Amino acid sequence: MVASSQSQDTAFRPAQTWRQRLPINSAFRKVILMATHNRPIANVVRRYGMRLGAGRFVAGETLDQAVANLRALNDLGLRCNTTLLGEGVKDERTAEEVVRQYMTILDRIDQEKLTVNVALKLTHLGLDLGEEIAYRNVERLVIHAATYGNFIRMDMEESARVDITIRIFKRLRDAGHDNVGTVLQSYLYRTDDDISGLIPLKPNLRLVKGAYLEPASIAYPDKADVDKQYVAQAERMMNEISFTAVATHDDRIIEHLIKFAEQNGIGKDRFEFQMLYGIRAQYQRELVKRGFRVLIATPFGPEWYFYLMRRLAERPANLLWFGKNLIKR
Ligand SMILES: Cc1cc2nc3c(=O)[nH]c(=O)nc-3n(C[C@H](O)[C@H](O)[C@H](O)COP(=O)(O)OP(=O)(O)OC[C@H]3O[C@@H](n4cnc5c(N)ncnc54)[C@H](O)[C@@H]3O)c2cc1C
Repeated sequence: MVASSQSQDTAFRPAQTWRQRLPINSAFRKVILMATHNRPIANVVRRYGMRLGAGRFVAGETLDQAVANLRALNDLGLRCNTTLLGEGVKDERTAEEVVRQYMTILDRIDQEKLTVNVALKLTHLGLDLGEEIAYRNVERLVIHAATYGNFIRMDMEESARVDITIRIFKRLRDAGHDNVGTVLQSYLYRTDDDISGLIPLKPNLRLVKGAYLEPASIAYPDKADVDKQYVAQAERMMNEISFTAVATHDDRIIEHLIKFAEQNGIGKDRFEFQMLYGIRAQYQRELVKRGFRVLIATPFGPEWYFYLMRRLAERPANLLWFGKNLIKR
């Protein structure tokens, strides 16, 4: 029988305190995401960001630095993925260079015997130049990863790229590549339908709340609704798909899903918690000690600006902390 979130004792209730329900976080998030495209702000953050603390979220600017951090995380029992930061590539030569760098990353992961897979953005591989270029590039990486028994996940970007990302994922699976996965975002109204469409493929999916600025016509504007959707979709995926990557730092949701798994006989090998490098490090380790599979998304590279801005937008305290570092200088 398929369990549901409706049963009395397992029902998830969105945050209820007045502080948690204030719209401040949504408004703050919107302002920061809009400011991301402001050129003077971008110039200042790009120039001083690493010195002001971007290194908390980014595992270095070089592969050597990333490898040292990945090894340290593996030594703590944490699995990882890594990403060469970058997105929105506008010419084929750059996309080709990105593919070459990812080939090197996959080689290095194997040489170093790290428990690390790769998560990448299709716009970094040339998606904006056309579906065929992105397909060809990602397929080359999926094939190369397979030679090492490794895995590639395609991150989900803005809503305009969701259809094409899912199409590329299905094409890769149709072509016989099983070592590939993608991501679904709970804030989009369409996601229940996307889950239904993908379940027959027995997909490897990561579920996230969603990190981009999307209009209310296509995405839930209220965080409590996103949280409710997230829980319902995670429960459905844990029930109906053999493996689910639950990517959130929200301990209320994680603890709820742990209880849900226990009550429905879903083994610890059927799901994995995923968090970002530098966020809730103590909790990541505690979950490992409790016997759960935990993966840390550990990006690196000099193109960290957009990634950093999304992390600052997710939490007002991050911006305060960044601002304090600026004043201290
Ligand atoms: C492994 C991983 C991969 C992701 N991949 C994608 C993707 O492909 N596409 C996409 O759109 N989004 C992606 N995201 C981002 C995601 O959509 C959310 O924006 C992000 O995870 C914040 O939501 P949350 O559920 O973690 O926590 P929230 O509900 O926002 O917050 C819950 C708690 O988590 C902690 N927290 C959350 N964010 C931060 C932060 N930045 N700094 C410090 N503490 C924080 C705080 O304690 C907060 O109270 C990914 C997230 C993770 C963890």
